[in-house]
Amino acid sequence: MSTNDSTKTCAYTATKTEPETWHGESRSEWNRSASTWDCPHPVAKQSQLTAEMNSEPEYCLFHTHPEKIKDGVESRAFVTTIQQSDVESDAVARRKKQFIGATFGYLEIDAALKEQDEHRLGADDDYPIVFDHAVFKGGLSAQDVVFQQPIRACYTQFDCIDRSESHIPDLGVRNKYAVDFNGAEFAGRYHKAYVGGATYEAVNFRHAEFTNDGTVRFGGAAVTADGQVRFDGVTFRTDGGVSFAATRFQNGEYIVTFRGSSFTGDTVSFSNSEFHGSGTTEFTGTTFNTHVRFTDAEFNTTGGVSFISCRFRGNAGTTLRGA
Ligand SMILES: [Zn+2]
Repeated sequence: MSTNDSTKTCAYTATKTEPETWHGESRSEWNRSASTWDCPHPVAKQSQLTAEMNSEPEYCLFHTHPEKIKDGVESRAFVTTIQQSDVESDAVARRKKQFIGATFGYLEIDAALKEQDEHRLGADDDYPIVFDHAVFKGGLSAQDVVFQQPIRACYTQFDCIDRSESHIPDLGVRNKYAVDFNGAEFAGRYHKAYVGGATYEAVNFRHAEFTNDGTVRFGGAAVTADGQVRFDGVTFRTDGGVSFAATRFQNGEYIVTFRGSSFTGDTVSFSNSEFHGSGTTEFTGTTFNTHVRFTDAEFNTTGGVSFISCRFRGNAGTTLRGA
């Protein structure tokens, strides 16, 4: 079969019982119902790769190490894969948006869309873009991109080493769907990790880990509608602190929960953030090994705010002025 045969699909299979096939440590991290996943994407073309290979490529671009791929090729291929994913059956449309266990380089979704004079990414259906168990070797940039699909990135690793200005996902100003980062890891040496300026229906960062030298900033994000906002069990270990400053949480029964999360590093700031709704804002069992600032935070909720079993161990204290 020639490499130009677009019907040849990637040889990659993720198997629940073999975590090494999907960047996992234990099979308990596997979060899919089926115990295996076969990649539906076409094999890479030799013209897309940096070095001549002795044998024909066996894997798609997304399961090929980014060092072997020419600059920009992976980002463009990702964007067109999503845009063209809905041309066959429903089953194909669903699978073509899945990138389980992929190894991305620096995925510049914004740059690839800009080449098309476009800022929206989506297809004519509601299937999620799934990055479960994938690794981003150089981070992900999606500044001002409007995602028209739900995003799922469970147990995904965002390593932003040597790319100090890169963003972790800035997932668009009008993402109308939930964003799910259950168990994701955000690590690296970036100065800022930015999830602000966006509107989410629901956000789940349950058991995610943020470890970096810079700041994690959710500043200016607005979380609306009835979705839950879950930062439960999240580990923040950042030298530059964490900022939820000017973030607006406005939604239903549970506004936002930080149950059992821990913050270590510089200041955690909720200054000027707003909490509206009928539910409780829960910091139950949260550990702050850091200075916490709630200056001028507005808790306009009938459910109140809970700090039950919280531990404040920061050497600089807690500022609640104006809260
Ligand atoms: Zn593949």
